[in-house]
Amino acid sequence: MTAHGPVLPIWVCAGCGSLWPCRIRRRELLIEYEGAPVSLSIYMASRLVSASTISVDHEVSGSG
Ligand SMILES: [Zn+2]
Repeated sequence: MTAHGPVLPIWVCAGCGSLWPCRIRRRELLIEYEGAPVSLSIYMASRLVSASTISVDHEVSGSG
């Protein structure tokens, strides 16, 4: 496991405090998913869905 995981719902790196994925985590992901770009896309898409869900929760209350 990496120390550079996302802190939700603010999406900063738990390891270095940069916006997630930070430079270190991006490099780790490239190594972890080397030769498997589709798997990396699915992983990042799942992260994006999580972020979108959180954003929608905040936006819904303001519309009307
Ligand atoms: Zn980091």
